[in-house]
Amino acid sequence: MDRHGAPKTLKPELLSPGGSLEKVRIAFLYGADAVYTSGKDFGLRGFAHNLDSEELALATRIAHDLGKKIYVAVNIFARGRDLVKIEPYLEYLNELKVDGLIVSDPGVLLLCRQYAADVPLHLSTQANTTNGLSVRFWAGQGVSRINLARELSFEEISGIVAGSETEIEMFVHGAMCMSYSGRCLMSAFLTLPGAAGAKEEAANSSRPPLENRSANRGFCTQPCRWSWTLVEEKRPGEFFEVEQDGRGSYIFNSKDLCLIEEIGPLARLGVDAFKIEGRMKGALYVASVTRAYRQAIDFCAGLSSGDKQPWTMDLEKISHRPYTKGALLAGQSNPGVDVETQISYVQTHTLAGLVRSGRGPDEALAGGDAGSKIYLEARSRLVPGQRLEFLNPDGSSFFHELSSFEDALGNRLAQAHPNTLIRFCVDFAVFPFQAVRVSNGAGAQTCTESLELGGAMM
Ligand code: SF4
Repeated sequence: MDRHGAPKTLKPELLSPGGSLEKVRIAFLYGADAVYTSGKDFGLRGFAHNLDSEELALATRIAHDLGKKIYVAVNIFARGRDLVKIEPYLEYLNELKVDGLIVSDPGVLLLCRQYAADVPLHLSTQANTTNGLSVRFWAGQGVSRINLARELSFEEISGIVAGSETEIEMFVHGAMCMSYSGRCLMSAFLTLPGAAGAKEEAANSSRPPLENRSANRGFCTQPCRWSWTLVEEKRPGEFFEVEQDGRGSYIFNSKDLCLIEEIGPLARLGVDAFKIEGRMKGALYVASVTRAYRQAIDFCAGLSSGDKQPWTMDLEKISHRPYTKGALLAGQSNPGVDVETQISYVQTHTLAGLVRSGRGPDEALAGGDAGSKIYLEARSRLVPGQRLEFLNPDGSSFFHELSSFEDALGNRLAQAHPNTLIRFCVDFAVFPFQAVRVSNGAGAQTCTESLELGGAMM
């Protein structure tokens, strides 16, 4: 029985990131029960594509047609000037009948109750909920679901879930801030007008220079992923070498959270929703991580008798930093706070492309025919001889060795460039938005470049 006295379903909701309309579709295709996304403003992801008003409406329709849910993040820590602009936006989301608003600022919460009164309120991890009394407090404010802070141990989560009448959600996968549940000022401080970090970011970025990049307003430059040295107080300008190796010292660089091995125990606690971080991440990440956790949840719920190996492979084949279970098992097998000092991330595979219908990238989902020519929108440079892996939602894959291919007009190509449409025959069925990955070559590629911008909180 669960904490409400009902029979346990052991099947928490799987909540995936939908940083664009395409990724919303991919998340649902690979098994998400719900996606979280945001509009162009107020969603703490200033660098993400995000969805405009029409896309939000379409994404909501897609979700509801599939019998699934969509939550919209309005989790900015608002300034007074934001509050005026946010009101019509909340009214619009209310009209759309989205399934939840993710908030962290109490002022925004009050406005949500006023201007989007029909939409359930979910509390963001940014609110740092770490105990059962806080859960009760937020429930009293009209919040129906709370995403717990990432600092909590298994025992603490267990205690909170057991005493909560409110839905409990937790992150199970993705990038983490070294300041786990946020409120981090590193980016804001280092990008003050004229600050050294602001100049460095401007020099290394193709984007226009932008100062005052606060993580709490969705513009984190991720300085925790930069390489750092020490300077002794009385020796300004003399850098103290603290290099882990020749690549530098990533002393603030948190490992990525991965709780796939803990899905069963967490589901049995009665956690209501498992959330995957990554609105800034790419289509391959969304497809791979969603299908891995879909398989794991269904397996733990007794709905499949899968082999765990493919789940693990999916998570290893995406760009990621070394994995950690974070604070969940603190004091047992790991130290609780895990930084990766040597590398920024590991990348063994990339997105080769997405299957498209031959009639355009926005063609409605429909099955392909085995043996017929398929269309692939290349997302990497592709050449004959590469072995493509087509990911199926059930956890299996089809493989195809690329021998020859042509453009959409039938001209044979020696190579395909990213964002071009190519076609070729395969001997299995495919479907639009199917993700196709390709190996980067022998061995893992370790990189010292940051993967994404925007903070690592949601
Ligand atoms: S990702 Fe941004 S908000 Fe998170 S710890 Fe790093 S600098 Fe701070």
